[in-house]
Amino acid sequence: MKVDVLVVGLGPAGASTLYNLTKIVGKEYSILGIDKRERPGFPVQCGEFMPSPEEMAILTPNVPDAHNFYKFNSKFISTRTNRISFHSPSGKVIQTPFEGYTLHRGAWNEDLLDSAESAGAQIWRSSRATDMKKTTTWVSRKGLSPEPIEAQVIIGADGARSRIARWAGLAEKRNTEHFVYVKQHVMTNIDSSKFDPTDIQMFFGENYAPGAYAWVIPKDGTTANVGVGLRIPMSKGRITVSQALDNFTLNHPYVSELLRSATIETTIGGLVPVGLPLKKTVDENSKTLLVGDSACQVVSSVGGGIPTAMVAGSIAADTIHSYLIGNGSLSDYQTKWEEQMMTMFIRSYKLRQLFDKISSGSDNRVQWYLNRLKTSDVSDVVHCRVPLKVSLAFPFIKYLNLLIN
Ligand SMILES: Cc1cc2nc3c(=O)[nH]c(=O)nc-3n(C[C@H](O)[C@H](O)[C@H](O)COP(=O)(O)OP(=O)(O)OC[C@H]3O[C@@H](n4cnc5c(N)ncnc54)[C@H](O)[C@@H]3O)c2cc1C
Repeated sequence: MKVDVLVVGLGPAGASTLYNLTKIVGKEYSILGIDKRERPGFPVQCGEFMPSPEEMAILTPNVPDAHNFYKFNSKFISTRTNRISFHSPSGKVIQTPFEGYTLHRGAWNEDLLDSAESAGAQIWRSSRATDMKKTTTWVSRKGLSPEPIEAQVIIGADGARSRIARWAGLAEKRNTEHFVYVKQHVMTNIDSSKFDPTDIQMFFGENYAPGAYAWVIPKDGTTANVGVGLRIPMSKGRITVSQALDNFTLNHPYVSELLRSATIETTIGGLVPVGLPLKKTVDENSKTLLVGDSACQVVSSVGGGIPTAMVAGSIAADTIHSYLIGNGSLSDYQTKWEEQMMTMFIRSYKLRQLFDKISSGSDNRVQWYLNRLKTSDVSDVVHCRVPLKVSLAFPFIKYLNLLIN
């Protein structure tokens, strides 16, 4: 079978690419999207938090018309939030205003695919890419023998463990410090008298989230996404991600009290890439572009990948259209996403590295540094800026670490 464009993986990145591309080209070109899941976008492996368009315009000022670009139809907004709270290991809380919302991410994802399908794209569910050579990808549809699909352009949107990246020769060997293992419950029946559904809460501590953070992200007045992240070099085998989530929900002094009456609705796990984006996200030989987690296009300080997948998907769609009509090259994709997002990626990566330096396995250190942060500093951090006082202290951190244990 021959198609003009094959999109492998229909999570936020693949669905955004497919949606934007069909919006531009309609039925003029043959576009096929495949996903190994029966219902792409489900189960939702995500905290579903999305900064508001205003916050995203600050974070990515080079995204054209950011205020409109990042807007969601209100039917996909589960709840609106206006604050982020950092909880230090000993329970000190520092808060900063930050507008955002929790999405119905699965419904949004599905809606993008429905729109793309109505506009002319073909979608194959329960269909897995099993191999790729040059411009041919083998796809096993509903468990049947793989069939070859030849495409003028292939989109690798197959997530953090991308096989398309490997087959196209774009994957980089990265050690485990660049991945966060995560586990999350959706918890409901939370006591509304104890719960502020406008507050995104982030928690630091070796027993809950070594090398990362734990979170309570409200979905409504009594429901929240409650999760933990863990990086292997920092957890040093002391704790698994399941144990970390149990510790967090059952033993954290504040969270266990908050969740006393709550029940678990669902549980999911996942992997978040938190290194810099891949150096090369375009392979001209196989005509492949990588979009989303497959390209590590994630805000590494917080593990956010929804807005970046939207931007990358939109740029990929524009690039493919120009390429198909003979008006541009595929490598324009790399140039454009770097223009629009690289500054944020670099800054957030620096913050992540700084956090590693500061914490280096000690709650006391995290505590000591957090005690010195003010609201304005936390505001800098959530906007991917290193606070001035931290920049000034940077050369002395290794000496300070010797003093604080
Ligand atoms: C627990 C958790 C919480 C998170 N919380 C947030 C948050 O609050 N806010 C935020 O912005 N980001 C968050 N993230 C990150 C965000 O979810 C990801 O960055 C985002 O999902 C990336 O989208 P994607 O489409 O690139 O990859 P994915 O969502 O992983 O989608 C990849 C798709 O490819 C399919 N696929 C894989 N292999 C194949 C194959 N061989 N053939 C066919 N299909 C294949 C999969 O089935 C999947 O549907 C979180 C991540 C996790 C795991």
